[in-house]
Amino acid sequence: MPRAAIEWQAGLSYLASQGLNLVASFSVSGLPRQLQDQLTAQIPDSSRFASLILTANAGRDFWEALQSSGPQGRDPVDHFSLTVSQTLVERNLDGAEHQVLYPGPFSISLSELGQLAGWHHPSPIGNGIHPKYGLWFAYRSLLLVGQDLPHQAVPRQASPCDSCVDKPCMSACPGQAVHFGHPLALNACIKHRISDHSSCRDRCLSRLACPVGAAYRYDEDQLQYHYLHSLESLELWLDPE
Ligand code: SF4
Ligand code: SF4
Repeated sequence: MPRAAIEWQAGLSYLASQGLNLVASFSVSGLPRQLQDQLTAQIPDSSRFASLILTANAGRDFWEALQSSGPQGRDPVDHFSLTVSQTLVERNLDGAEHQVLYPGPFSISLSELGQLAGWHHPSPIGNGIHPKYGLWFAYRSLLLVGQDLPHQAVPRQASPCDSCVDKPCMSACPGQAVHFGHPLALNACIKHRISDHSSCRDRCLSRLACPVGAAYRYDEDQLQYHYLHSLESLELWLDPE
């Protein structure tokens, strides 16, 4: 096996050891037109990079790796994701030239890339749903790199929502925000989340009710971290004073 392929495999093992257990890579020139347009609108010279690497965590391993590393920075999740992703570039891709797209100020559709990777189907609660991990995965980094990489994606499967008979995510939502076949009713969700004594301050009851990938549900401390963090951002957005 060529050295570059061996290093890429070693890099995937490293990412998995840090909880970034979903990894996809794409040739930049082979991306669908709308994604290429998003890239060139924001990074005019993006065509000088050969590949795009997308990472996500699925299940609880990422949180455990983050806690073991000692959380750092104002946003420890982003800090850790970037540190791990850039370590991959340094260690396994010969320090190739790269540009971080996410986390960061750029707006590239992670859900479109997740669909290309074979991970992501739309769900009634807004989060992507994965055929194996259900709603318990999250995008962590997106990098342009100046090195050719093997195409890495899994074949797209049917959405778990299509065969879900009872659709318990709908009845579990106290804000009546979840309706199959429609996008999440965001205003209704926000109204419930910020209400006094809301049951959704530190969790989404619909997400917890989904039976797909139940073995990969986040632990209580990870759930609370993410939802209280998003609630704080939401309250700041609603009342910047
Ligand atoms: S409960 Fe069923 S319909 Fe709702 S997100 Fe899960 S799989 Fe989809
Ligand atoms: S956070 Fe609460 S109100 Fe919002 S979708 Fe989830 S269950 Fe419904």
